[in-house]
Amino acid sequence: MLYNQVQDLKGTIRVYCRVRPFLQGQANGQSTIDHIGENGNIMIVNPLKQGKEARKVFSFNKVFGPNVSQEQIYIDTQPLIRSVLDGFNVCIFAYGQTGSGKTYTMSGPDLTTELTWGVNYRALRDLFQISKERADVVKYEVGVQMIEIYNEQFTLTACTLDIRNNSQLNGLNVPDASWVPVSNTRDVLEMMRIGQKNRAVGATALNERSSRSHSVLTIHVYGKELVSGSILKGCLHLVDLAGSERVDKSEAVGDRLKEAQHINRSLSALGDVISALAQKSAHIPYRNSKLTQVLQDSLGGQAKTLMFVHISPEVNAIGETISTLKFAERVA
Ligand code: ADP
Ligand code: MG
Repeated sequence: MLYNQVQDLKGTIRVYCRVRPFLQGQANGQSTIDHIGENGNIMIVNPLKQGKEARKVFSFNKVFGPNVSQEQIYIDTQPLIRSVLDGFNVCIFAYGQTGSGKTYTMSGPDLTTELTWGVNYRALRDLFQISKERADVVKYEVGVQMIEIYNEQFTLTACTLDIRNNSQLNGLNVPDASWVPVSNTRDVLEMMRIGQKNRAVGATALNERSSRSHSVLTIHVYGKELVSGSILKGCLHLVDLAGSERVDKSEAVGDRLKEAQHINRSLSALGDVISALAQKSAHIPYRNSKLTQVLQDSLGGQAKTLMFVHISPEVNAIGETISTLKFAERVA
């Protein structure tokens, strides 16, 4: 083991809850977060209910309050990410209703400011840096690809791999990929900008579309130990999921209804897979959605999973907040 820092993270499935702060202009809003405890507990207060019914406690591996920085979030994620260099497969998901902070956690609000970079860019920077530090012990190659899953179909939006032999890769196998060498974070940022642009093609409004599709950034790591010649293959999937909000059936029609059904089905299929893994069930239902099929090699077995569940503090989000926390408790 090169990076044996994963020991303190017991088990292979972890759930972190992150509470978004009130946005500008809402600073004095009433919050549904009553209390955040030290050991992964969060107490929610439902203003629509009275007495004992109004308060409920949920428990996770960690809970991050509204003032927790991007850097702190990354520090608590880093051991998992570094384990990819030891040959582990890791999946990190961002779950929550639209507007709860999924993209903020995974990408950050603004690519140009490293201070607010999300998990994606920090992970890449870290992986490149460590592979350089270790260059006299292990020769690492890094490849990256981005896919989008929309209405149960996946599209490659961008790809930059310096491992040309596709058969060496874990996880995804995307045909007809165009390979571009990559050796630093800047190359990847450029690729991701192209990916975002590709994603926008055909979408009337990017925000709308991005909240209704799953976006999967995959980092493949291929390492060769120089002395022993042994091979390490690891794979990190960073997944910004479609918004989990339930769509009012009476309002959604046509394409919008179809999208909503696909999203519901794939998120509940993901929940089913993770909770089956958590319960060490004999049958893991990977085949029920494109998302779980695509990630199958990186869910279960030796692979590690981290689910960030995001909640908004606003009173009018209480219904979605509770259903998000219930989903998360089921997989924890
Ligand atoms: P989602 O991807 O879940 O739809 P976003 O990540 O786009 O949500 O977040 C919605 C808004 O809230 C954005 O303006 C974002 O910058 C802001 N936001 C989300 N999380 C945080 C946070 N932890 N701190 C500050 N602003 C945040
Ligand atoms: Mg988003």
